[in-house]
Amino acid sequence: MSTFSEKFKTLNFDRPLDIAATASSATVERIISQGRARTLNDFAALLSPAAEAYLEPLCHLSQKLTQKHFGKTIRMFAPLYLSNECVNVCKYCGFSRHNDIPRITLDLETVEKEARILHNQGFRSILLVAGEHPKYVSNGYVEECVKRLSKFFPSIALELGPLESERYEPLVNAGCEALLVYQETYDEETYRALHTAGPKKHFHWRMDTPERAYAAGFRRLGIGALFGLHDWHKEALALASHAEHILQHCWKAQLNVSMPRMRPAKGEWEQVEFLKDHNFVQVITALRIFLPHVGITLSTREPASLRDGLAPIGITTMSAGSSTEPGGYSSFDETTFQQTREQEGEQFHIADERSPAEVAAVLNKLGYEAVWKDFDQSLIQA
Ligand code: SF4
Repeated sequence: MSTFSEKFKTLNFDRPLDIAATASSATVERIISQGRARTLNDFAALLSPAAEAYLEPLCHLSQKLTQKHFGKTIRMFAPLYLSNECVNVCKYCGFSRHNDIPRITLDLETVEKEARILHNQGFRSILLVAGEHPKYVSNGYVEECVKRLSKFFPSIALELGPLESERYEPLVNAGCEALLVYQETYDEETYRALHTAGPKKHFHWRMDTPERAYAAGFRRLGIGALFGLHDWHKEALALASHAEHILQHCWKAQLNVSMPRMRPAKGEWEQVEFLKDHNFVQVITALRIFLPHVGITLSTREPASLRDGLAPIGITTMSAGSSTEPGGYSSFDETTFQQTREQEGEQFHIADERSPAEVAAVLNKLGYEAVWKDFDQSLIQA
C-alpha cells in the first residue's frame, strides 16, 4: 500500500487544472443536477470561473449534503496554545525561529488553569497546539498535559510537529483522540522556499503524518492547506486528493479538512495570492459536493460576518473565542471578553473576536445546534 506522498509524486494535476480554468457552464449544471462531484475532474470544474455564476445553487446543494450527513449541528472546539517555542523557520508564522517575540512554554498548572477557563465557557473539545521544539515540547510534556486535561475534556486533539507512529502511541494511550497536521502548501517548490530550516523542511515526511497517526490509533484526523501561499486551485485539488486517499486508507478514522486563509503575523513573508471570499465559498462547496462525509473546519481567522454566512453552507466544526498565544485565555476579561493586554507572543491575530457564547447564540438563531461534547472515552472502552 503506497502512502500519499508516494502517490503524490505520480499525480499529474495538469488536466484538472485545465478544467478548473476552462470548464463550461453546462459541466457545472450537470454536476449540480446529479447532486455530486463524482471525480476529481468534476471537483475541478466547481473551482472554475464558470462555477462562480452558480454560487447560489452550489451553496444550496452543499447545505443539503451537509445537513444530510451531519444534521444541523456545528461541533465547537477551542485551541489551547502550550508553547510558542519553535526550531523551524516558516516564513509566514509568528512563531518562526528568528522572530523576536516573547517565548513561553506553559507549566502544567498554567495549562490546567487555561483549560479550566475554556471548560467554564462550555468547551469539552480542546485542541492542544505547540511549536516544534524537542527540548520544550517533548513527548513527555505533551503526554502529561493530556493526562491532566483528559479528566475534564472528553475530546483532546493535537497540533504538533510530526512524529513517528511509535511516539504517537503514548499520546493516544494518554487520552488523545485526534491529530491535526496541515501541509501548508502542496506545491513542493513553494514549500521549500517557505520552510528553510528545521525538521519541517521535509515535505514528504509531513505529508505522511496523518497515516502514521492513524497507525498509532488516532480516531480523528485533520488535514489542511494554508490558502494564500500558492495558487488556490492547485492547493484545493491537492487537498481533495489527499482527503480521498485518507478516506480510502484510514477508513476507520473520521476526517476533517481545513482551509485557513493567511492572517497577519510577525513574519518575513508577503502572501502571493489572497483567496477572495467568493472563491473561498467555491472551495468549501466544492469539497462538500465532492466529499460529503468529510468534516469541514472554520477557524476564528475569518471575520464574524463571513463565519455566520459560511456556517450553514457546509461547515461542521468551528472554534470560537480563540487565543493564539500560550497563556492568552488568562488575560481575557471575563465580563467584556476583551483582552486585557497586548498579545505579543501570538501566532496570528484572529478576526472573529466574539465570545464562544455569542457565536453559539448566532448559530442557534440560524437554526443550528452548537455541539460542545460529541464523544466520551467510555464509548470506546471495553
Ligand atoms: S508554522 Fe508551526 S512549525 Fe512553523 S514556525 Fe509556526 S509553529 Fe513553528
